[in-house]
Amino acid sequence: MYHERDVSLHLKYREEMWNILGEKVIPPKLFIKGRYIGGADEVIGLHEMGWLGKILEGTPTISNDCLCIGCANMGFTICSTCCGSCKVFINNGDNNNNECFLRCHDCNENGLVKCPICCC
Ligand SMILES: [Zn+2]
Ligand SMILES: [Zn+2]
Repeated sequence: MYHERDVSLHLKYREEMWNILGEKVIPPKLFIKGRYIGGADEVIGLHEMGWLGKILEGTPTISNDCLCIGCANMGFTICSTCCGSCKVFINNGDNNNNECFLRCHDCNENGLVKCPICCC
């Protein structure tokens, strides 16, 4: 069972990864049971040495094949507040052209919110 975090979809994921690893690294980076394993080269190396299976021992093996009906396993859905535009229309209630657009506070920089079904 794995969870993919697409850092290009959510700035906070990238910042979290940079914070944990202490430098501005480029994905893919693999973590197993919360421990940093490495990038693609390190993981392939571990696999070739037969260590990857040992590291994965004891991890849940629930299949990730079934698609989430909320997000198709993207982990994010389009913000319903702003429809992904990151802008919300505000009308102050009077008729003096006080209408304006504000930055939507419900979603991230890409107009996305975490999937409420699989990413609670
Ligand atoms: Zn929004
Ligand atoms: Zn989902």
